[in-house]
Amino acid sequence: MPKKHFATDAIHEGYDSKNHLGSLSTPIYQTSTYEFDSAEHGEACFAGESEGYIYSRLGNPTVRALEERVAKLENGERGLAFGSGMGAISAVLVALTKANDHIVSSTGLYGCTYGLLKMFEDKYNITSTFSDLNTETVIRDAIQDNTSVIYLETPINPTMQLIDLELVAKIAKEFDIPVVVDNTFSTPYIQRPLDFGCDVVLHSATKYLNGHGDVIAGIAVGSKEFLDEVAMTTQKDMGAILAPFDAWLILRGLKTLPIRMDRHTANAEKIVAKLAAHNKVTDIYYPGKGRPDQNEIKEKQMSLSGGMIAFEVDGSKETTQQLLNHLDIIKVAVSLGDAETLIEQPATMTHAVIPEEERLKMGITNSLIRLSVGLEHWEDIWNDLDQALNKLD
Ligand SMILES: *Cc1c(COP(=O)(O)O)cnc(C)c1O
Repeated sequence: MPKKHFATDAIHEGYDSKNHLGSLSTPIYQTSTYEFDSAEHGEACFAGESEGYIYSRLGNPTVRALEERVAKLENGERGLAFGSGMGAISAVLVALTKANDHIVSSTGLYGCTYGLLKMFEDKYNITSTFSDLNTETVIRDAIQDNTSVIYLETPINPTMQLIDLELVAKIAKEFDIPVVVDNTFSTPYIQRPLDFGCDVVLHSATKYLNGHGDVIAGIAVGSKEFLDEVAMTTQKDMGAILAPFDAWLILRGLKTLPIRMDRHTANAEKIVAKLAAHNKVTDIYYPGKGRPDQNEIKEKQMSLSGGMIAFEVDGSKETTQQLLNHLDIIKVAVSLGDAETLIEQPATMTHAVIPEEERLKMGITNSLIRLSVGLEHWEDIWNDLDQALNKLD
């Protein structure tokens, strides 16, 4: 059989109905524990000598199907699902660091990830250097003797700046430092960081992977060796596991990931063109519509531009809030990647925990707006934005 395509794997990978009484839909194994065949079988399971399930914090068949499917889509050896994106991020970062280490991170970061790095610093003296990671020299300058991980987002939430995955991975290899990439904004349909030499991919599966705004979940993908270790240490002992019903919802959502991402992108491209022609809009940040060096990165590592847009309006924090208040179809809400178009003001919402001075250095101004373009008809999305923009003084 030739290698199957992404859209086929998104529907079939990780599940064979023949092993489940023919049930075409993955059964929801709503159980905490599993009965052993015998005391000896129980001993063998605990010793790792038998494949059997033990207890759902250590593994669950519904969750396992999701882990296998996402691992395949990201081109990784093993996936591990968590109760939230932050559960996945914290389990991976705790596994990769110890007291007094150093983390190199992209300049912009999801607000709670930034909060986690600050907590590491306060509690364990694990310091972080925030870097643009945009040239070989800049990357080398950020690395210290005690650097134990390079952590990045691309596109960066919410500024949509891109980082060259291949370049970062190449330099990190020289120093034997693992590169961890939060791929929430792109999904593996658009960008596969492991293909560029990065080591671990993280997702808030709450967003595009599930795609329907009804689950909080996370997933990590990478080598079997590393994820086996996470499974047996930080996941097992910190315990941020995913519930089987939530895994089932994401398995369902994944079946339409390719067609959803195509439509999110098509809609976003129309909205970007309209925003660019509007006199109240001062700047737009969207992959492929940036500086030439940014566009080169987009061409190299992203197959599409995706559904996330950031833009700035001419005005203050209050003007920006007014714009949000004038909207009707577009919902004022954090989160992203849903069928509904969602809009938010990062400075006062998702990134409010970052002190103003650092926030501004990251490019998160008071008039920056983040738009997650949904699956409604693009003209209805635009008409709503247009009437709200026209009401601004
Ligand atoms: C939402 C988000 C997270 C956190 O995920 P949760 O599922 O909310 O815990 C991490 N990274 C990015 C880029 C996100 O958008």
